[in-house]
Amino acid sequence: MTVDEKLTRNAFKPDEESHISLDEAVCRSRCTERYCVRVCPAALYAWSEEGDRMVVEHAGCLECGTCLVACSHGALAWRYPRGGRGVQYRYG
Ligand code: SF4
Ligand code: SF4
Repeated sequence: MTVDEKLTRNAFKPDEESHISLDEAVCRSRCTERYCVRVCPAALYAWSEEGDRMVVEHAGCLECGTCLVACSHGALAWRYPRGGRGVQYRYG
């Protein structure tokens, strides 16, 4: 079984409240690297040209914490989803 196949077995119980928040002003004005887009294994970050802001879809988060480490501007606030919510791994 490939890693991608294993990931499709995960179950998600999304929290209505996002556990990830961004300082949009920092993303917009100070960040040219946008490492969050490149490192998220679930591809949850995307730059919105329409909204002129970085957006993150928290519902599919794998809770790896990589984005928090990768953001070199301290623009990310991250915590685990509230109890009982978030990803449920089926293969480790
Ligand atoms: S890396 Fe950090 S500052 Fe840059 S766009 Fe992503 S969250 Fe914003
Ligand atoms: S914790 Fe991992 S999966 Fe969740 S948004 Fe950050 S990089 Fe993506």
